[in-house]
Amino acid sequence: MTEPTAELPSLAADHPDNPSVMIDVHGAHVAVPGSLRQPGVVQQRVYDPGRTVEHPGSEVHFPPINNGLDYLISVVEHLEADEERVSARDLKYAVLHLAAGAEVLLKARLQQEHWALVFKDPARASHDELVKGTLLSCSPEETVNRLQKIARVQISAGEAAALKKLAEHRNALQHYGLIGEAANARAVESKTAEVLDFLIRFLDEQLLPTLGQEAREALEVDMERIRGGLLQIRSFVKKRLQRLQGTLSAHRELTVECSECRQWAHLVLPDPNEKALLLSSCLLCGATMPSDSAALCYAVELLGSDPFPVDGSAPAYETCPACGGPDTLVRGVRTLADPERPVAFCFQCPGEVREPYEPPAADVDWGNVPKL
Ligand SMILES: [Zn+2]
Ligand SMILES: [Zn+2]
Repeated sequence: MTEPTAELPSLAADHPDNPSVMIDVHGAHVAVPGSLRQPGVVQQRVYDPGRTVEHPGSEVHFPPINNGLDYLISVVEHLEADEERVSARDLKYAVLHLAAGAEVLLKARLQQEHWALVFKDPARASHDELVKGTLLSCSPEETVNRLQKIARVQISAGEAAALKKLAEHRNALQHYGLIGEAANARAVESKTAEVLDFLIRFLDEQLLPTLGQEAREALEVDMERIRGGLLQIRSFVKKRLQRLQGTLSAHRELTVECSECRQWAHLVLPDPNEKALLLSSCLLCGATMPSDSAALCYAVELLGSDPFPVDGSAPAYETCPACGGPDTLVRGVRTLADPERPVAFCFQCPGEVREPYEPPAADVDWGNVPKL
């Protein structure tokens, strides 16, 4: 701890009346949580006595599963303050640590299958490099691929897409800082809940059963903390969704799942000030896009379609027979009106296009879109 400097405010940092300073359990003067930083005053750090790794001066010892859980605990700590109080720094570390936690846990399972599988090229795997940690390891996408194909772990297309997106966000964040979706607190919360939900199930089904009873019990404190944090994050998302229910339920047949935050809050309303491409937004996360991008994102993110199929299959989006919108119609879209029934949905008309489509008597072509 550095000595107080001459720039201290008039009320000395360790003065008993200074409201920003408190005495911790060890008798040290520390900053009250949430107070402004003061030179010479260490920030109060709370720790969970049930978690050995948080004890001051604890040994650095993180076996892979503990290491992954520690990242996830950091994620919930950064997000459980709710969006209104979550800072840019919280968002940054929530995304970075979620990506790191996911990678560590998925690779731990892959390593159980065979240690060589975590190498970028398993044919060139070297045990020495594994022990030293100097290995060139496989990408997050390849990790998921090997888990599915070699370890036969059930990972749905939606979960794989969410994990891939997370790794992309992490890279973007490291190279370009907090921009785009990663800077959207609502989208980060919602997607974090989705990935955390998957990882908790992955831990319960794939990783924890491989540990002895004692090791499993030791991790229970961490697991409870993460489950509690997930419930908390979910409750924020739920609270905001409830606030939107009135608006969304008035337009159930025009409300679809959002490809960004994965909530049923993307409302595609007709625009009386007709534009070439209709803009629509998710009321929860605010993601806004023109009709062709909305169709493409829905098909790729939610239906798992290949945006550029090379096997000759038709892309999941196409020109709408009703309005002529280029690439604005997607087959397999579900709306809030009947989430069980996939329909052909146009993000430009907007709405369900019933098939077979009967064109109106007058010819309608793109460039002569009827007034909506
Ligand atoms: Zn959204
Ligand atoms: Zn259309």
